Amino acid sequence: MRVCTIGTGYVGLVTGACLAHIGHDVICVDNNPAKVELMKSGHSPIYEPGLSEIMKAAMSSGRLQFTTDLAVGVEHGEILFIAVGTPPLPNGSSDTQYVEAVAKGIGQHLNSDYKVIVNKSTVPIGSGDWVKMLVLDGVAERNKQPSLVGAGDNPQTSRLAPQFDVVSNPEFLREGSAIYDTLNPDRIVLGSNNQQAIDLMLKLYAPIIDRQYAEDATVAPVAVLSTDLGSAEMIKYAANAFLATKISFINEIANICERVGADVTQVSKGIGLDSRIGNKFLNAGIGWGGSCFPKDLAALIHTGADYGYDAQLLKAAVSVNQQQRALVIQKLQTSLKILKGKTIGLFGLTFKPDTDDLRDAPALDIIQILIELGAKVKAYDPIVSPQSSTHQCLANVDLVDSPTLLAANSDAIILMTEWSEFQQIDYQQLAKLMRSPIMIDCRNFLSPAKLTAAGFQHIGIGC
Ligand code: NAD
Repeated sequence: MRVCTIGTGYVGLVTGACLAHIGHDVICVDNNPAKVELMKSGHSPIYEPGLSEIMKAAMSSGRLQFTTDLAVGVEHGEILFIAVGTPPLPNGSSDTQYVEAVAKGIGQHLNSDYKVIVNKSTVPIGSGDWVKMLVLDGVAERNKQPSLVGAGDNPQTSRLAPQFDVVSNPEFLREGSAIYDTLNPDRIVLGSNNQQAIDLMLKLYAPIIDRQYAEDATVAPVAVLSTDLGSAEMIKYAANAFLATKISFINEIANICERVGADVTQVSKGIGLDSRIGNKFLNAGIGWGGSCFPKDLAALIHTGADYGYDAQLLKAAVSVNQQQRALVIQKLQTSLKILKGKTIGLFGLTFKPDTDDLRDAPALDIIQILIELGAKVKAYDPIVSPQSSTHQCLANVDLVDSPTLLAANSDAIILMTEWSEFQQIDYQQLAKLMRSPIMIDCRNFLSPAKLTAAGFQHIGIGC
C-alpha cells in the first residue's frame, strides 16, 4: 500500500521505516530540511536501536523516501499518518498547532482519491472530528484559488470534493525498543466510525497482526480493538496514566518501606507475582519522565478540568513523582551534608536507556536542583555527548566521555539511567578515583553487595 507519514520523529520515522520494512511504499514528510537531508543520506536523526539498519534496507529497495514537500506525500499516500509532536503548553493542555498545520496542509493537497487520515500523534479527546474539520478548511481554502479551475470549466463542478475519513490509531511504542514494539505490538487500536477506513488499516497492518515478525511463530495474532474515535483517543491517555500511576504507587510504597525497614525490591517481587497486578512498572526509583508520561498526564488532568472534573488520583501520581526528585537530593544531603562546592557526577542523562531522548528526563530536574544548591555537575551518558546535544539544561554540565573521568574527584555519583553498560564497570577502580565513593542508585540497578565490596556507600530507593 502507498503510505505517507508526516513528522519523522520517534514515532513517524519508526512507523514509516517499519511499514516500508513490511512491504509498503512509504514517503516520510518532515518540515525540517536538515533532518530530511540527513535521512536522505541514509542516516537516522534519532538514536533508536535497529532503526538505521531497517531504514537503509528499505531505502535501497526503493520503498522508503523522504521529502519536505507535503504535497508529494499527500499525493502519494492512500493512508496518511499524522505523527507530529503535541508538546505541553504551560497550562498542561496539549499544543496542537503542529497537528493543525498538517491537517490543513493535507486538505490543501488532497486530490479526489479516497484517503485515510490517521491520527498517530497523541491528541486530546475529540481531535478526530477536529482534524476532519481542519482538513475540510484546507480543502475550502484550496478551492478558493482560481488556479484550480481550468479555462472553460464550470467553477461549481470542478471544485474538489475530497473523499477521506479520519482514524485514531494511537501509538504505544517504547523508545529504546520501538522497532520491536511496532512489529510486535500487544494490541492495535483503531478508532473510526467508517468501516472502509478500518478495513484499509487492517490491510495495512495485516503482516503485523498475523505475527509475521514474531520470534515465536505460535503466538496468537495481535489483538485489534476497533472502536469509536473518542474512545481510541482516550485509550492512549488512560494507558499512560495507568502506567505512570503504577510507578508513583510503588514509589509511595518505597518511601514507606524505607521508614519501616522493608525492602521495596522484595515487595515489588511479592506483589508482582499476583497475576492481577503483574511485575511490570513496579520498579521504585527517581520517578517517571520522558516525552510522554508528564505531558499526557497533564493533558488528561486538563481535559478533566475542562469538564469540571478534578482528577485527584492523577494529580497525586504527579505529586508523588515530583517528590521523588526531591528525595534523591535529600539522600545526597544526608550523606554529604553541604552540596555547595561539591562535585556530583551523573551516570546517564536520558529518561531511559537505549534512547537519546532528553525530553523531561529526571536528570534535567536533578541538574537544575544541584546547580541551584551550588554543586558542580558532571555527567556521563553512553549516547548524549557535547557534540550530540545542545540541550540548554546541559549548558552548565561538564559532559565527560567515560565513567572514569566522571568519577575523578567527584564527591558522589547519582545513577540516573539504567544503561546496561553501568553494570560492567570496574567499581573498585572508580571508588579509588572519587573524593568520597557514594553511589545514589536511583533505579535500584546495581548490586548493593557488589558496590559495597568495591568500597562504595550504595544508597538505593526504598531499600
Ligand atoms: P518528535 O518531536 O520526535 O517528532 C515530531 C516531528 O514532526 C519532528 O521531526 C518535526 O520536525 C516534525 N514536524 C513538526 N511540524 C511539522 C509539519 N508541519 N510538517 C511536517 N513535519 C512536522 O515527536 P515524537 O516523539 O515522534 O511524537 C509524535 C507524537 O507521537 C506525539 O503526539 C507523541 O505524544 C506521540 N507519541 C510519542 C511516543 C514516543 O515514545 N516518542 C510514543 C507514543 C506516542
